[in-house]
Amino acid sequence: MRSLTVAAGPDIGTNGYRAPNLMNRNAISPGDVISYPEMCSAIRANLQRGMNFQLRDGYSVILMSRRSGAPYVDSIQEDGRILIYEGHDVPRGVVNSHPKQVDQPDRTPGGRMTQNGLFAKAAGEFKAGTRSPELVRVYEKIHAGIWVYNGLFRLVDCWKEQSGPRKVFKFKLEIVDSAASGQSATQSPPAEDRVIPSWVKLEVWKRDKGQCTKCGSNTDLHFDHVIPYSKGGSSRDPRNIQILCGHHNLAKSDQIE
Ligand SMILES: [Zn+2]
Repeated sequence: MRSLTVAAGPDIGTNGYRAPNLMNRNAISPGDVISYPEMCSAIRANLQRGMNFQLRDGYSVILMSRRSGAPYVDSIQEDGRILIYEGHDVPRGVVNSHPKQVDQPDRTPGGRMTQNGLFAKAAGEFKAGTRSPELVRVYEKIHAGIWVYNGLFRLVDCWKEQSGPRKVFKFKLEIVDSAASGQSATQSPPAEDRVIPSWVKLEVWKRDKGQCTKCGSNTDLHFDHVIPYSKGGSSRDPRNIQILCGHHNLAKSDQIE
């Protein structure tokens, strides 16, 4: 098993300051492959749903999937920098019709804001200039029980659009470029180089059968660039991406340096 050091987590002081340890080395990094329990442990919450506005640590979490048969239409643009995330349906049993026939609600029948409503309000306030963007950690399901951390995003827009017989929410999120935002001096090169698009991850996961290509281990896995992005290796070519376990990932980076 991967050992996760889940320390105190981002410190949100009384003044609202968020400590810049978003991508702490002990924490999960973008591109890490993790199991569902590991994901819950990393964010210190038991996720029962796909949209989670402001968990205890002050960050929101969304779970996405672009697998066939996924319940919602999530799309990724500009090689992983932009995510268009679909809102979620009314729960079964709340209305008499099938959830896919009903407008996605921003309120429950009792008048409480739904997750759609909470995220929409935050996006609206950001657009109006009255708050900073909501920070959202994005996890993507690539296989049953297997997730990849796609990184930290900011919520910048929200709208409703027609989808078949009903209206759905769409949320636009942009990846937080840590180099540009000054969150960590060690987090270069820029995000656009290191982000591996979902279609590449899915293809590589299938090809490598969800195992380290060196030893066949199926724990502590990471998507690795064969030629590092810092040396011009592409994130968009499956031939340049492989699955390595933590041990072989480390062994490789020792060799390069
Ligand atoms: Zn290995």
